[in-house]
Amino acid sequence: MPAAHSASSSPSIFSRLSTAVVQWIDSDHCPDGAEKMRAEPDRVDWVRVMPFVILHLGCFGIIWVGASSFAVWAAVFLYFIRMFAVTGIYHRYFSHKTYSTSRFGQFFLALWGATTVQRGGLWWAYHHRHHHQHSDDPEDAHSPHVHGFIWSHIGWITSRRNFPTDYTKVKDLAKFPELVWLNRFDLVVPILFASSLLGLGMLLERFVPGLGTTGPQMLVWGFFVSTTALFHGTACINSMAHLMGKRRFKTDDDSRNSFILAIITLGEGWHNNHHRYQSSTRNGFYWWEIDPTYYGLKLLSWTGLIWGLKPVPKSILEEGAHADHHRSVEAAQLAATAHPEFSSLKKVLPAAAALAVATAAAAQANVPEKAEGPAIHKDVTELAHELGDSPAAKPPADASDRP
Ligand SMILES: [Zn+2]
Ligand SMILES: [Zn+2]
Repeated sequence: MPAAHSASSSPSIFSRLSTAVVQWIDSDHCPDGAEKMRAEPDRVDWVRVMPFVILHLGCFGIIWVGASSFAVWAAVFLYFIRMFAVTGIYHRYFSHKTYSTSRFGQFFLALWGATTVQRGGLWWAYHHRHHHQHSDDPEDAHSPHVHGFIWSHIGWITSRRNFPTDYTKVKDLAKFPELVWLNRFDLVVPILFASSLLGLGMLLERFVPGLGTTGPQMLVWGFFVSTTALFHGTACINSMAHLMGKRRFKTDDDSRNSFILAIITLGEGWHNNHHRYQSSTRNGFYWWEIDPTYYGLKLLSWTGLIWGLKPVPKSILEEGAHADHHRSVEAAQLAATAHPEFSSLKKVLPAAAALAVATAAAAQANVPEKAEGPAIHKDVTELAHELGDSPAAKPPADASDRP
């Protein structure tokens, strides 16, 4: 837990720098007190944020290490397996407790989550719960409507005031010392993870040279490139999911549902659904709303690692279906107003269909070997009589009528 310390009210630059450096290792190190730090105005802490900058700069390593299909596919695989950890673990378990697990299961999930390099599960959950409490109001740390797109996407995570975890907002998680430890020393797992990839690449280079990969290549693609892409994929929910897509539910915020964001984030794109009802394990409320995270969690539940997945209540599903119906009726009315020719088509189509049937039948009637020929011909004649009421079918006016 973060300890509150009393210190001078205006720390020197050296003190600020040294504090930021120590926080790379111990993220709960707050000499002035976490509360005071959180009360500061938004300001990028360039020293504190250096590991995050290095993460991005590491992507340029591809210039030196090159690429192999194995390393690139490893990066893709690690993106999705860790996006599942962001959405299925940090979001749907740590933030919302939408399913249950054992203490061992919880620790295992926390380790998996820590490989995403999105800080500790408690920090993540604290900020996310805060987002739901203050969505799109001035208190929301990453609202694109309040702070602009860039700040909601990446700026807020660099702000000094957003670094400390408010453990009072995640008391249900803070009672487990192993989770607090992982949250406090949040670079330990990422460093181990990156080192493992480097080691794996070196082993593959030595024993399976046919793969054409190396230790540095696996480090750059598997860790730096994959993790940077993972950050920006996740950050799209903060920046884009309140801007892009449709609003099924009239929530107090501006959250939206987007298929594209759902693909990038394995189901988190159904953000308006989620803002309407946060307690269900699934964010795609209907079968056509693809939600791979939910499918993965369902699979995990069959192993016994997790259980008690929470469904979407029937009342919410009915509310959503009613909203969809209402919206489609409105869209049809709008289309009819904007394009009146569409509504006149309704009058034209039956006559056109009758003519088409008549033409097809007449074509068949001309085939001599068909025994049913006369009957078909009769039908066509009847149709022709019916159509004969139209002015075009009437015989031309007598020439004597002409002046
Ligand atoms: Zn949101
Ligand atoms: Zn949420």
